[in-house]
Amino acid sequence: MGAALIDGKAFAKDLRDKVGEFAANFEQRSGRKVGLAVVLVGEDPASQVYVRSKGKATVAAGMNSYEHRLDDTASEEELLSLVEQLNQDPKVDGILVQLPLPKHLDEQKVISTIDPDKDVDGFHIINAGRLSVGQEGFVPCTPLGCLMLIKDQLGDDLSGKDAVVIGRSNIVGKPMAQLLTDANATVTIAHSRTKDLEATVKRADIVVAAVGRPEMIKGDWIKPGATVIDVGINRVPGKEEGKTKLVGDVDFDSASDVAGAITPVPGGVGPMTIAVLLRNTLVSAYRRENIALDK
Ligand code: NDP
Repeated sequence: MGAALIDGKAFAKDLRDKVGEFAANFEQRSGRKVGLAVVLVGEDPASQVYVRSKGKATVAAGMNSYEHRLDDTASEEELLSLVEQLNQDPKVDGILVQLPLPKHLDEQKVISTIDPDKDVDGFHIINAGRLSVGQEGFVPCTPLGCLMLIKDQLGDDLSGKDAVVIGRSNIVGKPMAQLLTDANATVTIAHSRTKDLEATVKRADIVVAAVGRPEMIKGDWIKPGATVIDVGINRVPGKEEGKTKLVGDVDFDSASDVAGAITPVPGGVGPMTIAVLLRNTLVSAYRRENIALDK
């Protein structure tokens, strides 16, 4: 392995610690704690794990975590009225509705009911619009976390760098491309209809893979010295029978021989997502109380 390992776990811990310090400062100045409300509908096991770790991290950062669980038979009306209630609640700075929702509930309708100024996931159409025109809002946590890791490697100004984002989803690929463009990189967005993905990836100084296909991007696709950010989380059969393991969208073993720096899976982008969620919630609290957030 020639590449430097980008330690997202350590970076995320530092970010959570910093958020914790600011959260304590916020409490001193405003007389209340920062609050994050998380809504979980149904019993999806992966969602339950995510919600539990978000709650734990929120409390560890000195914030209040308000968890709301609804039955998977809950009506849309019930869910929308809970969201409206959280919109009005002055103790709540951030609202997150854990996705995916059960099929009978309209995700877009639910997200668009969240107050955009409490939408710390950055999924509301108003926040997508704000990002696209360069206004202050909330940026989705995973791509913002990726940008932090990239800037930590390459500096804040990515002028002259060619970046390729593989994937064009609303929650990862598109906002990632926008953030890289705003940081002055020259950005290509690749997706399932891209003609020659390998050649496209080979040109890139920065590769962000957000596809959801295990180890699809091979080492010989990577430009020597490139910074490789692997967003993919794929569960595949492990070496031992009956066991599984997590791998990314990048073939780590071959890519780490060529790249300049690379994120592992797990321990790369994954831990950043929750840390940035806490950061967004903190920013929301400072904005809502009109307190300047000094860096
Ligand atoms: P989506 O399924 O919404 O998007 C996948 C994208 O990959 C689509 O744009 C699709 O193209 C593209 N794609 C699919 N197959 C190919 C292919 N063969 N060649 C090129 N592009 C292809 O996924 P998400 O964006 O939600 O997530 C992507 C990955 O990131 C997943 O593994 C997910 O688990 C992970 N993830 C990790 C997070 C974290 O915290 N670390 C958070 C969120 C996601 P098209 O649009 O043409 O269909």
